[in-house]
Amino acid sequence: MRLLLVEDDQSLAKVIQRGLVEEGHAVDHASTVADASEAVSINEYDLLVLDLGLPDGDGTELCEEVRNSGSGTPILMLTARDGISDRVRGLDAGADDYLTKPFAYPELAARVRALLRRPRGTAKPILECGDLRLDPASHTVWRGAIMVPLTPREFSLLEYLLRHTGQVCTRESLLEHVWDAHYDGLSNVVDVHVANLRRKLEQPGAPDAIETIRGVGYRIAEAAA
Ligand code: CA
Repeated sequence: MRLLLVEDDQSLAKVIQRGLVEEGHAVDHASTVADASEAVSINEYDLLVLDLGLPDGDGTELCEEVRNSGSGTPILMLTARDGISDRVRGLDAGADDYLTKPFAYPELAARVRALLRRPRGTAKPILECGDLRLDPASHTVWRGAIMVPLTPREFSLLEYLLRHTGQVCTRESLLEHVWDAHYDGLSNVVDVHVANLRRKLEQPGAPDAIETIRGVGYRIAEAAA
């Protein structure tokens, strides 16, 4: 896959670029909004890794530019730890996912893989796994032919798990993506919501939809796939 990395921190860029190249990607690197903008106008990228704080402007400008051109290229943005408003602006501008700095390279690699797996050209596809179906547009969930009513939080939780089918989602990643990184309520909030979700998705004779990976987190059960 052809990737564009937009990052002005040269040492961080080097680490990311080396890693992604090792995974077999072709990686172009830009350090400014201007260079990145030129690169996307010339090349067709499969994915953008986009730092938001750039010397000549804001990465969200580039997000908007890419989306306004009608491109559905997945965009993973890199934001500061305390940058909630940045994240909101970035996602509103059309970014697909974000990673807060500092991060471990394997997590970036996993996010990139997940984004590259997504079907292209369909902004809001129905997510399916076995007899589970979730429609992000209409906010509905079915197990087989039965519609399952969920709370908004349970819905987000299931959506995140389904978007990461085949991967184990850690409690931390669920907290970060379904709640937010600054959630400081009950420490077992993820487990409580997963338990409720699992109960609602139960069907007589059908396997559990969500698997617990002890000490790590949760994933959509293979049996449901
Ligand atoms: Ca920066």
